[in-house]
Amino acid sequence: MLFGGLSSGGAKVSEMTEAVIGAVNRNRAMVAVALLVCVWLTVMQPDPEVPATAHAAAPTTPAKRPQAGATSPSPKPKTGLVPVVAPPRRNIDCTVVKCIALTFDDGPMPGTAKLLNTLAAHKARATFFVVGVNVAAYPDLVRRAVAEGHEIGNHSWSHADLGRSSKGKVRSEIGRTQDAVRRAIGRPPDLFRPPYGSTDGQVAAIARQNGLPQIIWSVDTFDWRDRNSRVVERRAVREAHRGAIILMHDIHRTSVSAVPHILEALARKGYVFVTVSELYSGQTLSPGTKYRHRCPPPPPPPPAVPAAPTVTPSVAPSPGTPSVTPPGAAGTPSAPAGVLAAPSAAPPSAPPSSPPVEQPPADAEECEG
Ligand SMILES: [Zn+2]
Repeated sequence: MLFGGLSSGGAKVSEMTEAVIGAVNRNRAMVAVALLVCVWLTVMQPDPEVPATAHAAAPTTPAKRPQAGATSPSPKPKTGLVPVVAPPRRNIDCTVVKCIALTFDDGPMPGTAKLLNTLAAHKARATFFVVGVNVAAYPDLVRRAVAEGHEIGNHSWSHADLGRSSKGKVRSEIGRTQDAVRRAIGRPPDLFRPPYGSTDGQVAAIARQNGLPQIIWSVDTFDWRDRNSRVVERRAVREAHRGAIILMHDIHRTSVSAVPHILEALARKGYVFVTVSELYSGQTLSPGTKYRHRCPPPPPPPPAVPAAPTVTPSVAPSPGTPSVTPPGAAGTPSAPAGVLAAPSAAPPSAPPSSPPVEQPPADAEECEG
């Protein structure tokens, strides 16, 4: 029983051994199949860093890569880098001439072309404070404005409220627009106007670093609010003054339509339409400083009062002696009206009077009122 039991037990062990060996072989086969599947999947899968759609959208022509040692192709000419030739700067002395500066903000836009036509017809020059995104969209309008004698100023990249912006934002808004204008006309603007007139010490410092004076205004036509040409015309003409900087916007059709009447009415009053730089000709604008208008010239110095004669002629001219009348005395023909007579000679003892020196204010606000 015991042997039989052992014999029977040995058969069972043998069967079990065969079963185990068979299972191991099957497992090996399954492992081998699994390994083959993994290898196949690895080979056939796309690059995991490239989206599947990128494969489908791949260009039919392979991208050309620069080859080491190969001669690099000549750079493609960048449009807009050819500097615009501006007409000669006019020699207008705004301390003598009744100057006024029209300024147009927020463009250029397609309507700017009509405004340029109007200004050309009236031989008037103006200043455009441009927004960088619009310069990038309409560089040809900026180039035309410069070619026709107008001036370009920086009005930020996106018309941001710079007085409420971070330092990095202010730098970006001003710097990007300087670059956009440089690409369009070949040189960056010399002037800057903060959108909304919103500025502070930080904006002033960054404007100064860019070499840009801050040009505000002295006459606001509120044309952005009153989209009525007649209202804008009347306001501009009524509030105009010598040395004024008038704020308008060429992005509004009603504003552009108001300009012909403004030009005609102000020309009748003797105004000459100049750019902002022309308005300040002979005066150095300080970067970062705010300017609202050109201060009126200082009043002429009071006429020199000749010293009372201390020596009385003891001998009266005898009758018949031809009298010598000093120049300027009664009886001398006076200079015709409108012509300045030559200054009278100062007494020998008085020092020669020096011409008044115009001191530019540190901030134009100081000369207002
Ligand atoms: Zn603006």
